[in-house]
Amino acid sequence: SDARSELLTLLQAQNLARILHSEGYIQHQGYVLNNLKLRDDAGRVLGHWITFTPKDHINFKQVSSLLQKYVVINVAVILLLLLITLLFIKNRQAHAEKRYFRQIIDSVSDIVYVANRKKIVDCNQHFFEFYDEFADIDAFLAKYTSICDTFVNEPGFIQTTMQGDYWIDYILKHPNESHKAKILRHGKAYIFQLKVKSMQGSKERLFNVLMQDITQIEAFKARLQALTVTDELTGVGNRLACNQTLQREIERSHRYKTDFSIVLLDIDHFKSVNDKFGHDVGDEVLKAVAATIVKALRDIDSLCRFGGEEFMVLLPQTDKEAAFKIAERIRLAVSGLSSEDVPNRVTISCGVAHLNNWDTDKTFVKRADQALYRAKELGRDRVEIEQVEPLSEKKRPFLSRLS
Ligand code: GH3
Ligand code: MG
Ligand code: MG
Repeated sequence: SDARSELLTLLQAQNLARILHSEGYIQHQGYVLNNLKLRDDAGRVLGHWITFTPKDHINFKQVSSLLQKYVVINVAVILLLLLITLLFIKNRQAHAEKRYFRQIIDSVSDIVYVANRKKIVDCNQHFFEFYDEFADIDAFLAKYTSICDTFVNEPGFIQTTMQGDYWIDYILKHPNESHKAKILRHGKAYIFQLKVKSMQGSKERLFNVLMQDITQIEAFKARLQALTVTDELTGVGNRLACNQTLQREIERSHRYKTDFSIVLLDIDHFKSVNDKFGHDVGDEVLKAVAATIVKALRDIDSLCRFGGEEFMVLLPQTDKEAAFKIAERIRLAVSGLSSEDVPNRVTISCGVAHLNNWDTDKTFVKRADQALYRAKELGRDRVEIEQVEPLSEKKRPFLSRLS
C-alpha cells in the first residue's frame, strides 16, 4: 500500500502468492524480499509487511561467520554431551566393576586386606568376621597399629620383625618360603598362611595381604605326622620314629660330645604266650610291657617298637653304667607285672650300647643287638652290656681319626 512504484513492479513481476506464503526470504533482482505476517490478537493474518533490502546492504561475510560460529558451537555442544555421556557410562562401568570384585573378595573365606606398609587401608568382609569386636578399620586401628600386633610370638611363626626386616618386607624377600602366623582369638589358636604382593598402579606403596586360615589343615597335618611315627598297637614310636630319633641323637651327641646310650630289648619266649593264650592276649602283653617301660623312663628318654616284640629305649646324655641301671630298672618292672596285667610272668632280655665317636646308627645298633643276643644266650631275663673291642688306629674310620 505504501511501497515505491518500482518496488511494486518488482513485487508484481514475482509470483505474489509465492511471496505471501514464503516463510524465509527470497532473492530477486538485487533485492532480498522478506515477508512478515501481521496478525491480530487471535493470531489471524491481517496483512503482510514486505521488506525490500538491497543485496549490497547485507554483509554476507558477517552472516557466514555467524553461521560458522553457530555450527562450531553446535558441534562443540554435541561433542561435550557425547563426552559427558561417555564419562557417565565409564563411571557406571567402573562402579559396577568395583562392586563385582568387591563381591568376589568379600565371598572369600580368607582375610584379604590392603595396607600402606603398616596401616590397613581396606579389607574384606571376612576381616571383620575374624576380628569381630571391630565394626570398621578405624575401630581396629584405634586398638592396634598393625595386624602384626595380634601375632603370637612363637618359634616357627612370623614375627613383626624377621631378621631385621619388617614382616611384610621379609615375606616379599622370601617368596618361596611358607610363612605362617599364629593368632589367638577368644581362647583359640588360629594358624594363617600369609601371602603378600606389592600392588601396581597406586600412588603410594600398597601391599595386598592374603591370610588363609589353615588351622584345620595344620591340625590334620600334625595328626597325620603323629600317625606316621606311632605304633598303632602300643602307642609308642614305631620303627620310623626309632630311626629318626636315633639319627638325630647320634648327630647331637657327635656335635656336642655328649653321652648317648641305647637299650635293645626283646620279650622272652613270646611265641609261647601267643601259642598258649592266643594272639589277642599276646597283643595285650605287648601293650602292657610298652606302658610299663614308658613309666620307668625319664622325660628325655624315648621308647619305640623296633619290630615284633622287640623295643628300643633311647637314652640321651646317659653313659654306659647309667644305661645299664635304667635297663635293669625296666627289666625288673616288666618281670614284676602282676597277673592282672599279663597272663603269666613276662620277662625281657636287654642289650645296652654306648655311642662311640666313630659310630654310625648301624654299628651302634649292631653292638646293642649283639649284647641282647648274649643276654638270650646267657639264659634270658637279664641285661648285657656291649663288649667293645678297642679298635686299632688302622681299623678306625679315617674321619674319626681326624677329630
Ligand atoms: P626269644 O626269647 O628267643 O625272643 O623267643 P621268642 O618266642 O620271643 O622269639 P621268636 O622270635 O621265636 O617269636 C617272636 C614272636 O612274637 C613271634 C610273633 O608271632 C610274635 N609277635 C610279633 N609281633 C607280634 C604282635 O604284634 N602281636 C603278637 N601277638 N605277637 C607278635
Ligand atoms: Mg622274643
Ligand atoms: Mg624277637
